[in-house]
Amino acid sequence: MSPSNRLPTWAARVPKSKIRRLYETDAKGIYDEDLIDEVGYGLLARCESFIAANRARAGELPCPECARPVRRQEVLSCPCGWELPWADYFKTIQHKQLSGAGPVLEQFQDFVNAFPSARTPRKKVLLIDRLIHAFHWYCKTNGPTRPVAVNLIEGRLGEVVAFLDRLSYSHKSTPGTSENLAEWNHNIEVNRGWYPSRRKAEARPLRPAEADGPRC
Ligand SMILES: [Zn+2]
Repeated sequence: MSPSNRLPTWAARVPKSKIRRLYETDAKGIYDEDLIDEVGYGLLARCESFIAANRARAGELPCPECARPVRRQEVLSCPCGWELPWADYFKTIQHKQLSGAGPVLEQFQDFVNAFPSARTPRKKVLLIDRLIHAFHWYCKTNGPTRPVAVNLIEGRLGEVVAFLDRLSYSHKSTPGTSENLAEWNHNIEVNRGWYPSRRKAEARPLRPAEADGPRC
């Protein structure tokens, strides 16, 4: 076995330009299957990274060399020879929008399971649309908090909200997307104080604890 200190790698958030293009073509009634797969698998990889990063925080992580499960402890080590202090591993997760709890992990896992087996472009677009308009959920109030899009799409929270607000829709858009949009608008209104782009007068800065979302 050869010693290694390889750091884990995490899938990047998906660029806004690709998602914008997906909605523009969809609003014209066109299914660009290559683009749909590019966005869908980009989101899937990001969801997998998000889930793995949260499992690592909770106590178990895949070895970056051989993918065997490794238990979290002060110095991580795998039978294949990989070793790394947990502090160094943790630094790769911090400040990368890779943190969330409970329902968001289930939503991301559902997407990871469902997208590869979706057989039609319509089904794929609906899965993408539902995922990027989903919200973190706070169990104590059983209510939505911040959009999960900030974990999946490049940009700060306010920018991502403004971006989703400006996506293209028309009567030719995939049936079902307007229902997701209506629910998105409702959930944003419930939390409108959080989104400066929507309500400048009510805007307040996010405190760091909130920026990572409430825990259950
Ligand atoms: Zn290993």
